[in-house]
Amino acid sequence: MSTDAKRVVVITGGSRGIGRTIALRMAGADTKIYFNYSGQSSTDAEATIKLIADAGGSAWAARVDVASRPDVENFFNKIVEECGRVDVLVNNAGITMDGLLVRMKEEDWDRVMAINLKGAFNCMQAVAKTMMKQRAGRIINMTSVVAVMGNAGQANYTASKAGLIGLTKTAARELAPRGITVNAVSPGFIDTPMTAVLPEKVKEAMLAQIPLGRFGQTEDVAEVVAFLASDNASYITGQVVHVNGGMYM
Ligand code: NAP
Repeated sequence: MSTDAKRVVVITGGSRGIGRTIALRMAGADTKIYFNYSGQSSTDAEATIKLIADAGGSAWAARVDVASRPDVENFFNKIVEECGRVDVLVNNAGITMDGLLVRMKEEDWDRVMAINLKGAFNCMQAVAKTMMKQRAGRIINMTSVVAVMGNAGQANYTASKAGLIGLTKTAARELAPRGITVNAVSPGFIDTPMTAVLPEKVKEAMLAQIPLGRFGQTEDVAEVVAFLASDNASYITGQVVHVNGGMYM
């Protein structure tokens, strides 16, 4: 990958779903996309890289579990060594391990918190000093509508995503003097591999709660992320932008 491009964008969990669409939306001749994933197979990641290349952009991916601090540090060190800067970080990687509160296994609680909340913390800490030196940067954290509504069966997930909102607001206050904005995007029900596995009855119940009468597409979320990362959003920080078809107002 050439190192003379202008903008460096890092997206966690870019191999499929919302992260892939964000990577595609933000790719371009003047942008380098770096993303990670954690699964054994690199097939999805390679497909994302190919889609970006076919559209005239360039991307590089690595198998890096956001829950692993050493791996995250190595990932960002490599990017900074290669490019000398990071302009945008999108903390998109996330998982669900659903179960009712009374039955939830401790390891399922811990794993979801480690990826969804601590993973974002790990990446923000790994990138903050670079952005502070630049006196510029954009951090966008992917939370969820259920962080503010609650959702039966998702104690771990809702807690992690609500925690991410608190983390976003604190980081926004701490980093604002250095010209760095930190915002959260809160999708409702988006059509991705994460939601494809839900039972039809659950999907029907979700649809009934959406005033706009359809599930969101990954593009609906990617557009908002791209806006928050753009110069046009320079006076927006510490906000949670909802993209949910009216499911939560
Ligand atoms: P998805 O299709 O399951 O994709 C998740 C991405 O994150 C994949 O690239 C996955 O790759 C990666 N990932 C998972 N665990 C990781 C880890 N430990 N380290 C690094 N990467 C990891 O999910 P999605 O629906 O696109 O969701 C993306 C984000 O939006 C998540 O944070 C999710 O909570 C949030 N969200 C989604 C919806 C929705 O309706 N889909 C709604 C609200 C919020 P590997 O599996 O290879 O690791």
